Amino acid sequence: MTQITPKRGIMDIALYVSGESRLAGRDTVLKLSSNENPLGCSDAARAAYAAAADDLHRYPNTDHAPLRRAIGEVHGLDPDRIICGVGSDEVLQFVVHAFAGAGDEVITTEHGFSMYPILARMVGAAPVTVPEAERRIDIDAILAAVTDRTRVVFIANPANPTGTMLTQDEVQRLVDGLPQSVLLVHDGAYTEFAAGADGGAGLVDRHSNVIMTRTFSKIHGLGGLRIGWGYASRQIIDVLNRIRQPFNLSNAQMAAAEAAIRDTAFRDHCADLNARMRERLRNSLIQMGIGCDESFANFVLARFADAPEAEAADAALRADGILVRRVSSYGLPAALRITVGDEEGVTRVIDSLGRFKADRRGA
Ligand SMILES: *Cc1c(COP(=O)(O)O)cnc(C)c1O
Repeated sequence: MTQITPKRGIMDIALYVSGESRLAGRDTVLKLSSNENPLGCSDAARAAYAAAADDLHRYPNTDHAPLRRAIGEVHGLDPDRIICGVGSDEVLQFVVHAFAGAGDEVITTEHGFSMYPILARMVGAAPVTVPEAERRIDIDAILAAVTDRTRVVFIANPANPTGTMLTQDEVQRLVDGLPQSVLLVHDGAYTEFAAGADGGAGLVDRHSNVIMTRTFSKIHGLGGLRIGWGYASRQIIDVLNRIRQPFNLSNAQMAAAEAAIRDTAFRDHCADLNARMRERLRNSLIQMGIGCDESFANFVLARFADAPEAEAADAALRADGILVRRVSSYGLPAALRITVGDEEGVTRVIDSLGRFKADRRGA
């Protein structure tokens, strides 16, 4: 028997399950399970990544200054209040490491992103999950759950996997109701897909207890490269930088990210395509009798009559070579999360689910 035991809470962590990428017996699958960009990434980002191969022997810079400057320019933010990480997941991890620990509580919501409770447990804190209202984050439920042990509140806005979004007034009401000692994490992984949204930047500028996180994994199509960033007060960024490894990002990551963020034409093209395809997919689902809330992200949540029907729909999609995301573990057993693909991808989903529904009516 080993004497080596992990710290309390570690063994309570359920391993993160990512979207599947393979189907047995098939060479090609249409992968709509991880909210990836159907157009890939910007050509400029790919070229910058390739060029970085010439300098693999060089250590990267430790302060990410050129990348932070680029992010600041494109988004109109102070580069000194930006921190970059290995995906926004790493920035979220800095937050819990710096601000929560044993005996503390971290609030997440009923259908919230599954990384949040994992992060809370990682530092020995207790995740506290509050109900949502019809798949929308419920501000009053969050405020009612705050205790003097609460240190961090996580919300994704737009939310994953529901795709719903709070209004600016609702988020403002949340911040106004939180004690100054509680840090609100406004996860803006899907901001670029919600027309006119600022990801929480305005809130950060008005409140010292808010951090916005953003990612290159979704609209910029760089999920494989692992780059994200956060924006908060100077004080919070200073705290987070103290626990960040100096060489957390490679030259190749930073070069690709800088090129990606400056390619606003590609970003806007992706947002425009997503908006049109999302609308088309949602309308088709509703016509078939499949429930679908308005989505502000690059996926939709398709709601079936019950869990067996969702399972059967998943099987029918798989038989057609299409992988989507089961979301039972998010408290949504009767639903499937479907990434919005390109024109052809969305057509395949609509055709496949159309046949599925027709077969069930016939049976
Ligand atoms: C995809 C996603 C992220 C981004 O994670 P990365 O580590 O940047 O790839 C963050 N939050 C939510 C809610 C997401 O769905």
